[in-house]
Amino acid sequence: MFFIEVVLPLAVAKTFTYQVSQAEYAFVQQGMRVAVPFGKTKIYTALILNKHQQEPLLYQAKEIHQILDTAPVVTSIQIQHWQWISEYYMCSLGKVFKCALPSALLLESETIIYSNQSAENSQDQLTDDEFLILEALSFQTQLKIEDVASILHKKNVLPVVQILIQKQLISVKEELQELFKPKLIKYIKLHDNYATETALSELLDTLKGAKQKEIILYYFQLKSTQKKPIAASQITHVLPASTLKTLVEKNIFEEYYVQEDRVSFTSSNNVNNLLLSTAQQKAYEEIGNNFQNKNAVLLHGITASGKTEIYIKLINDCLLQNKQVLFLVPEIALTTQLVSRLTAYFGNLVSVFHSKYSNNERVEVWNNLLANSDKSKIIIGARSALFLPFQDLGLIIIDEEHEPSFKQTDPAPRYHTRDAAMVLASSYKSKVLLGSATPSIETYYNALSGKYGLVTLSERYSKTPLPEIVLVDLKDAYFRKKMTGHFSSLLLDEIAQSLGLGEQVILFQNRRGFAPVLECITCGHVPQCPNCDVSLTYHKFKNQLRCHYCGYAIAKPTNCHVCASVDLSTKGFGTEQIELELAELFPNANIKRMDQDTTRGKNSFENLIHAFKNREIDVLVGTQMLAKGLDFDNVSLVGIMNADNMLYYPDFRAFERSYQMMTQVSGRAGRGEKQGKVVIQTYNPLHNIIQQVSNQDYLGMYKEQLYERQIFKYPPYCRLVKFTLKNRDYEKLKEASFWLYNVLKQHLDIPVLGPEEPAVSKIRNEYIRTILIKLPYSNQLIVTKKTIQKILNSFETISQYKSVKIAINVDFY
Ligand code: ADP
Ligand code: ZN
Ligand code: ZN
Repeated sequence: MFFIEVVLPLAVAKTFTYQVSQAEYAFVQQGMRVAVPFGKTKIYTALILNKHQQEPLLYQAKEIHQILDTAPVVTSIQIQHWQWISEYYMCSLGKVFKCALPSALLLESETIIYSNQSAENSQDQLTDDEFLILEALSFQTQLKIEDVASILHKKNVLPVVQILIQKQLISVKEELQELFKPKLIKYIKLHDNYATETALSELLDTLKGAKQKEIILYYFQLKSTQKKPIAASQITHVLPASTLKTLVEKNIFEEYYVQEDRVSFTSSNNVNNLLLSTAQQKAYEEIGNNFQNKNAVLLHGITASGKTEIYIKLINDCLLQNKQVLFLVPEIALTTQLVSRLTAYFGNLVSVFHSKYSNNERVEVWNNLLANSDKSKIIIGARSALFLPFQDLGLIIIDEEHEPSFKQTDPAPRYHTRDAAMVLASSYKSKVLLGSATPSIETYYNALSGKYGLVTLSERYSKTPLPEIVLVDLKDAYFRKKMTGHFSSLLLDEIAQSLGLGEQVILFQNRRGFAPVLECITCGHVPQCPNCDVSLTYHKFKNQLRCHYCGYAIAKPTNCHVCASVDLSTKGFGTEQIELELAELFPNANIKRMDQDTTRGKNSFENLIHAFKNREIDVLVGTQMLAKGLDFDNVSLVGIMNADNMLYYPDFRAFERSYQMMTQVSGRAGRGEKQGKVVIQTYNPLHNIIQQVSNQDYLGMYKEQLYERQIFKYPPYCRLVKFTLKNRDYEKLKEASFWLYNVLKQHLDIPVLGPEEPAVSKIRNEYIRTILIKLPYSNQLIVTKKTIQKILNSFETISQYKSVKIAINVDFY
């Protein structure tokens, strides 16, 4: 008898054995997918790990439905890497598998499909089965795979569904994600009717409007100087959009759209023509030298030192060796700026991959990589790009390596991109470059201790000094009545001056909404979310109180719910209030806000960045979204409205984060020729972190934080493992968490902390408790994890705790 060992995309720890025929056995290989039955009715896509002839002892092996691939779609290095993630982060291999594969490659009986618009007028030859599915979808907007099985009267339907996806006639529905629609660029071209010279000169003779002629002539002028297609905006920047519209309506011009990051770029710049500054050149060479004997190097380069250009040189070197490059960024929204900078040099060698792309696009990148095609030499992606089937990876770049979003929190696998990248790189014998102006304490520690190479770049590319930082003591300013709303007179003067010079301003307030809380002056009552353990946030524009954890919202009350007093006042302030105050103070300035509330829409983030870059916006008010690697050349002033609320977060990383955030936001100023200025408003001008930010003293911050970490046993001196327990029943949760705490304490020879109620101890009606263990580096990690796993297994067998959910977060952030 012949068997295969497979992993299913489920949260079960073990692998499963299925039976195959002798012919199938001869054909299958590790990394191919098979459709298998599971339970009574379910069908899943499973991944083959190996084949063997040992019949399972505990159950009767079922037969597979079908082999889905003719060649492996997952490489052995991927499987090894996923196994490492599963072990290190203590989650099932099935969960890693599920997270790694685009869902179009992971069809299961519950997967929902729907028809694409193009299906109706498809010219494709369809088989009977394909036809039946499409016909069913023309009556119903969507179907589950299991419905397809009953329509076709067969079990093995995944292959035909897969073919329809490939033909782009149907798509897989992703219910959880709002589909990300990258920005579309409008291009124009002259209609083919006017391709000949005679037709064109006839046209110019018959055209009446002078502006219309001007547009046509300008179009030809652009065409002769640039090889790229001509964007409509290039014309409407200088000539009226309405005239262009008329020409389109007259069929003289045609419009067409291309997705911004899929624009077929013919690279316009040659890397050989990219000249590095002396400092950049030195850093670039040092990185090369370090790579001789280190696998990873930290490039600690101040903001606007030109790290990206160094990356470009290194990418080029890697391509010359015909190897692939993975470029990881913390935030999907940041890809737009980067993609255009990289495609300018590498054209179509660049592909973008992230979880908000459509399934088809993700599968396309996956397949390109498998085939080692030219389209996939450079992959830009957020953390999930780590799971792609690289063939010959030469370099992984992790830009803004300090960003917390590199650590996945939910769902499992809760992996850290940087650490998982190190493991991946060692399988390919590739190099890792970490880049940041404000490295995480852990990374800097590894660099100083020699585990990573360290290369420092301490001047800006433009040679412009870092911005001058001025502190405003809020206590003093309020006392001397030098405040207008939340603005000190110094900050207002600076804003007026910058705007007067036609320069742009960024204002940073790490809180959205109008004011965090509404407080009753009479009794002190603050309205709370009924589902979560937080106060509601006041949003003036919608006149609402809203919960930022669960979305609960009510109209702003007119009297206190407790004492009925009408004396309600707002306390604290958010981005919305800053925006409104500013609009009153500077009625002629164009002020925009960038936070989670204004960037929910599809392209809103890109649009804001684009408009700010084009200088259509004078002042951008925003939350930490502003702090992330954006490059604008006309910002001369950055204002930090209140530096204090970041500092007092109940988290051992709060000081480090505050330093990073303030330094990064400050780094948006003065990136051009002129030195920028930063005004920090604070009640604690003498606080060490504020001092370190204003003196640009990274090393001072690092040393002090490291000392604290050592004293209080935090990373990099200890590994943290956090257990989060959740339940709707408060008493049961309390009991369960004490049980877990006690058993962990009895069996582990290390400190166990908790069970604690976190700062926000209830979210969406579920109570939360956490337990923390600190593993010293000397600890036998594997042994400890085995013990923990055993304890969790016995926890699961206790019937009254069945409803208590536990999440484990290894190296939690
Ligand atoms: P960082 O990522 O270190 O904050 P950037 O890579 O964004 O800095 O560089 C800052 C600015 O300087 C960018 O506008 C970039 O185009 C420009 N720049 C940096 N290096 C060069 C170079 N060698 N040649 C031309 N422009 C450069
Ligand atoms: Zn009251
Ligand atoms: Zn809530």
